[in-house]
Amino acid sequence: MNNVKMFLVRYAEIGTKGKNRYVFEDILCRRIRARLKPLGEFKVFRDFGRIYIEALSDYDYDDAVGKVTKIFGIVGLCPVTVAEEMTYESVRDAVYDHFEQTFGGSESGFDFSFKVHTRRINKEFPMNSMEIDMEIGHDLLVKYESQGLHVDVHKPDIMVEVEIRGEKGYVYSKIIPGPGGLPVGTNGKAMSLLSGGIDSPVATYMIGKRGVEMEAVYYNSPPYTAQRALEKVEKLGTIVSQYTGPIKLYVVNFTEIQLCIYDNCPHDQLTIIMKRIMFQIAERLAEKDECQAIVTGESIGQVSSQTMQSLGVIDAAVQCPVYRPVIGMDKQEIVEYSQKIGTFETSIEPYEDCCTIFVDKHPVTKPKMKQIEKSEQHLVGKIEELIDKAVETAEIKILK
Ligand code: ATP
Ligand code: MG
Repeated sequence: MNNVKMFLVRYAEIGTKGKNRYVFEDILCRRIRARLKPLGEFKVFRDFGRIYIEALSDYDYDDAVGKVTKIFGIVGLCPVTVAEEMTYESVRDAVYDHFEQTFGGSESGFDFSFKVHTRRINKEFPMNSMEIDMEIGHDLLVKYESQGLHVDVHKPDIMVEVEIRGEKGYVYSKIIPGPGGLPVGTNGKAMSLLSGGIDSPVATYMIGKRGVEMEAVYYNSPPYTAQRALEKVEKLGTIVSQYTGPIKLYVVNFTEIQLCIYDNCPHDQLTIIMKRIMFQIAERLAEKDECQAIVTGESIGQVSSQTMQSLGVIDAAVQCPVYRPVIGMDKQEIVEYSQKIGTFETSIEPYEDCCTIFVDKHPVTKPKMKQIEKSEQHLVGKIEELIDKAVETAEIKILK
């Protein structure tokens, strides 16, 4: 399929945005351009309510298709053959070329059923869409019937789509699925708490899929956590960035804060208090970068810090909205999701993150706000400075 010079981009939801439609389409075009830039010369443009990608140089088909079909907002990508003239012959020849290019070299050859479906947007074309359907169908049969091609108007194996738009005809028959969602940049920005586990990369993906630009923060506790744990988080963020576009990652040094909590607070409350401080730091970074929410991979009941009571107490540490897209999912469902998006294999690498090292054997599962606030009184006068320092010294990495 290396001869494909043109693709049609199918998008669903952004088509429903009324007057904002152009804004959405423009952002999607920009995302596609950015992703294709390193792969060759391409023209990405809108034409009559469609987005097209035209290859102007040689490129690696599998690489380009693999990258484009990960962009949020795209429902499908169709390799297209173009008819340059507004004549029946030009359109028919494009259909022949398309057939040769798409099925010519394949094992099953032309042994399949088909149906032609024409949309004639340019009404100046001399035939109507039904006439085009019938003529193309007839000519295809004449050419390929002896090689097995046959018509099935109800359940065809292949739907040959012909579109007459502007001054050109476009022919396609194959839809390579994309992730759907909305183009990133159409719905603000959020700060994701990204750990090396299974859940938070999925949560980051899910919010990104709604068109939200994602930033991330990772709490690192050297020397208690390995350098490899940080590398794992970077790798996970990089995988997610293939869908969301570049992710700005803050690496926060959390060691002193954890030790301070450990030395001053009841050990069965460590995880809760630690989470509250993680949230406060995330909120500070979010404000700095104009992110409108923080995102986590928490799911009700998964561990002690994710009971309804714990989540409530953790939420109360910040003012900004907290989004937890996997809140109602079972672990197995999150695992399947992570397999689908390609983060699972990395998530199960064995490096521990900071939470697993400072956990108590019997953490509280039903913390009371009053209790926690009382314990946090022991941190007053020490923790503020440490939080400031953690925010100020956070290291920034751009994952892409
Ligand atoms: P995950 O699979 O995402 O690691 P988890 O099941 O291990 O989650 P917890 O350890 O309770 O659950 O963490 C809950 C959420 O808190 C994570 O999904 C993540 O959003 C955030 N989080 C936990 N540890 C860190 C960390 N070291 N850095 C950044 N965020 C973290
Ligand atoms: Mg974890």
